Amino acid sequence: MVSNYDASNLECEYVQCAVCEKAITGGKWFARIKHGTWMVALCCPLCAETFERGPHPYIRRIETLEFMSQSRPEPPA
Ligand SMILES: [Zn+2]
Repeated sequence: MVSNYDASNLECEYVQCAVCEKAITGGKWFARIKHGTWMVALCCPLCAETFERGPHPYIRRIETLEFMSQSRPEPPA
């Protein structure tokens, strides 16, 4: 399954917890948090707390994954 951390769509069937990467299906997240341009989903109170304490590494990871899934890898020079 493709990775998906974008929880901006309330109808999304599948999204991953921004902290632990657990798959969340059917909109059964514990919380959604808006951070910059991102709306992320958190699966449990612990993940929500972890994210709120230090969202930057998680946002960075999401941005990297999204970037990689959108662009073709460059062949090594
Ligand atoms: Zn989680």
